[in-house]
Amino acid sequence: MSSTPFLAVYRALFDVFGPQRWWPAQTSFEVLVGAVLTQNTAWRNVEQAIARLRAASLLHGPTLLATPPERLAELIRPAGYHQVKTRRLLALCEFLAAHDALAEPRRLRERGSLPALRRALLGVHGVGGETADAILVYGLELPSFVVDAYTRRIFERLGLLSGAAAYEAIQAQFHAHLPADAALFNEYHALIVALGKAFCRPQPRCRDCPLRSMCHHADTRVSDRPG
Ligand code: SF4
Repeated sequence: MSSTPFLAVYRALFDVFGPQRWWPAQTSFEVLVGAVLTQNTAWRNVEQAIARLRAASLLHGPTLLATPPERLAELIRPAGYHQVKTRRLLALCEFLAAHDALAEPRRLRERGSLPALRRALLGVHGVGGETADAILVYGLELPSFVVDAYTRRIFERLGLLSGAAAYEAIQAQFHAHLPADAALFNEYHALIVALGKAFCRPQPRCRDCPLRSMCHHADTRVSDRPG
């Protein structure tokens, strides 16, 4: 791989944090469910909702789609916005069913090019860019970089991106500077989240940050406060 700042950041993060082994799920369908449930909530809440779905044997597309919405909403209540997310889960299941991929979402890979598949996912009720890309990378192992709030904050501070740019514009920068490798995109996004939680928080902890030497903003930040 040629050297770019984006690869240098990746290598620095990997050296410190090591493999993150995302996504924590047993099947691609479970990844898709988690990608919807994690909207606007912490992962620990998603884990509770997923555990309830597993206990009810509902982590299977055809079974979940046949479940009364009221029951589904009650089961996923720990993830928050449970009525909204019920509608979104069922819409995603209907999309999968329409593409003969409800029992095995990875069949979507055979339904067209990556750009066409991404466009189709964005047409599903409740699926925005971040959810679509999480599904593509972590559920289907396709190279579509996930952009989230951590990505915007960290790469703006690094001086590599404008955090206010549109989602697709930020994603295009990653795609332009990295090989189109789903495993790399998988690991890179997970490492960004690790850095955002451990160091590049709203109040950044620059002193011990592994990116300090390459960060434009490191020395101008009020840093290193505990908490
Ligand atoms: S040096 Fe500070 S501002 Fe820069 S990436 Fe690290 S924690 Fe964030």
